[in-house]
Amino acid sequence: VREAGGDSIVSLSNATHKAINRKSIIEKRLLFALDQQHLKVLYQPQVNIHSGKIDAVEALVRWEDDEIGVVSPDELIPIAEETGLINNIGSFVIEEACKQAAKWHNEGLDLKISINLSVREFRDKNMAKTILETLETTRCPANLIQIEITEKFALEAEAETSIIKQMLKLENEGIVFILDDFGTGYASFRYMQLLPIKILKIDQMFISSLLKSEKTQRLINGMVQFGKSMNLTVLAEGVETKQQQQILKEYGCDAIQGYLISKPVTHDAIRKLIKLPMK
Ligand code: C2E
Ligand code: CA
Ligand code: CA
Ligand code: CA
Repeated sequence: VREAGGDSIVSLSNATHKAINRKSIIEKRLLFALDQQHLKVLYQPQVNIHSGKIDAVEALVRWEDDEIGVVSPDELIPIAEETGLINNIGSFVIEEACKQAAKWHNEGLDLKISINLSVREFRDKNMAKTILETLETTRCPANLIQIEITEKFALEAEAETSIIKQMLKLENEGIVFILDDFGTGYASFRYMQLLPIKILKIDQMFISSLLKSEKTQRLINGMVQFGKSMNLTVLAEGVETKQQQQILKEYGCDAIQGYLISKPVTHDAIRKLIKLPMK
């Protein structure tokens, strides 16, 4: 027993050591990547469930480093938040998205682009100002930008009036807010009252078990009805099959996003998808 205990302490500290090492390598390489503009943005369509038309695309950051290879957003974003580099990633993604939306707009294509912003990014008192300035310098109409915030964020934002003020300022300019990962956080009806949310995005966790259990079906149906009763647009993420799409349509869901339509792709590929007749 003593030996086993000793072992686990050693392996724990080894694991911790490795994690710290990996983190500091990622941090170092990320600084370099930001400087060299090695980050990229891919776009995933958000489609009207009735018309099949692409209404918007979600901007998702991608990074492949020469030395450490692909670092997924699920690993990258938490480390970036801890080290403060999330603000640099955020500025990059905001600028890329605004440039792209403006470019499409000039080509006669008004496609909204959804940007993910974390809690920490909104703690920056200049967040709204930075976004509005970027809209101006890139000549991007504000109504082409959507911001996805998570439920967790919403809960924290409630306590911070400066965050709410910034959100209202952006909303006033025409930016739409999406409540991301809906259903996974501590859903509070209070922040639906306080925050300028227009779209509810049902988390993919629910969609992936949609066909497996009747209980999940009732839950999702309830979420859709809740959104409708609040006059919100309801979007489902992680839709991978026709059956999932069909059931969501029956419930009255407005829009879907997921591999059924397309994986996240380059802006050129989005252009091609739009020219193709959608399923
Ligand atoms: P999210 O905002 O919930 O984004 C959805 C994730 O699900 C994306 O993963 C997307 O590629 C993936 N996905 C889309 N459709 C399907 C599907 O049909 N099936 C399955 N299994 N997965 C699907 P990704 O790109 O790896 O991003 C992971 C998370 O990282 C995002 O979750 C978001 O929270 C965060 N993230 C990504 N880009 C950014 C960014 O620029 N800024 C910030 N702050 N966070 C970001
Ligand atoms: Ca998102
Ligand atoms: Ca999500
Ligand atoms: Ca997610």
